[in-house]
Amino acid sequence: MSSEKAKQPLLYVVAEDSLEVKNQAEGQRATFPEPQICSICGGSGFEIVPGKGARRCVCKKENSKDKLFAASRIPRRYENCTFETYIPVKGNQHSWNAFGNATRLADEYLIEGHKTGRGLLFMGPVGVGKTHLAVAILQRLMDRYGVQCLFYEFGSLLKEIQNSYNPISQTSELKVLAPIYTADVLVLDELGAAKPTDWVRDTMMQIINTRYNDRKLTVFTTNYLDKHRREGDEVLEERIGIRLRSRLYEMCKTVFIEGEDYRKSFDS
Ligand code: ADP
Repeated sequence: MSSEKAKQPLLYVVAEDSLEVKNQAEGQRATFPEPQICSICGGSGFEIVPGKGARRCVCKKENSKDKLFAASRIPRRYENCTFETYIPVKGNQHSWNAFGNATRLADEYLIEGHKTGRGLLFMGPVGVGKTHLAVAILQRLMDRYGVQCLFYEFGSLLKEIQNSYNPISQTSELKVLAPIYTADVLVLDELGAAKPTDWVRDTMMQIINTRYNDRKLTVFTTNYLDKHRREGDEVLEERIGIRLRSRLYEMCKTVFIEGEDYRKSFDS
């Protein structure tokens, strides 16, 4: 390359969908991906509204919604569980009733729910859509109203608490428990599934009581019923204890769902 050519400046041509750099000296062209800068706020995060002032830019709102969803810990398997993907089962009053209760709770949360703190306890056999509806409530609350939500399967939560237990201080790490206490809306899936030792019962009581005292809304699901179905079946009260079952009557409306295991319909 001659020294004269090398001295020639680069010419930047900014195209709409890409950034092109043309080296006139060499006649070569390079295309780079468009930088991800918001066209409304130019990356500042604030949009200027003429005559009014500044407001949070929509790109930051989207960003915070993504964070809300990521922090909710909804398992990937349930990511598509929304009210839109739930199909109330034809001729099954339980399914329609559960759907009605779930949508009402989500849609009225900002008006009533966060004041009363009264959630739902979905009760019924495996595969009838209890977790689907519980997750759908969280999805709607996050998507429409930006409510901070959290999902935990009860067994995994107890394991995490156990793993964080410090034998010296005889406490569990607050980093596991704090989000459980502070989440505006919490789903605790599969209540009663863990072997009911004294520690399990005390821990469940502590978590649920703290949220109850703070009037934080909690939605539960359980495969255990209130009445024996078959001989030898355990009921919820036996799994979680009388005190906790009693507390739940106050904290939640029990919504019973009866029906076929929906997963059977996948097998065709
Ligand atoms: P449960 O918590 O009662 O054991 P799930 O909510 O996990 O059951 O449901 C099992 C599977 O069936 C999930 O994939 C869920 O999305 C699906 N499912 C259950 N009921 C329905 C329904 N009425 N409409 C659409 N999908 C459903």
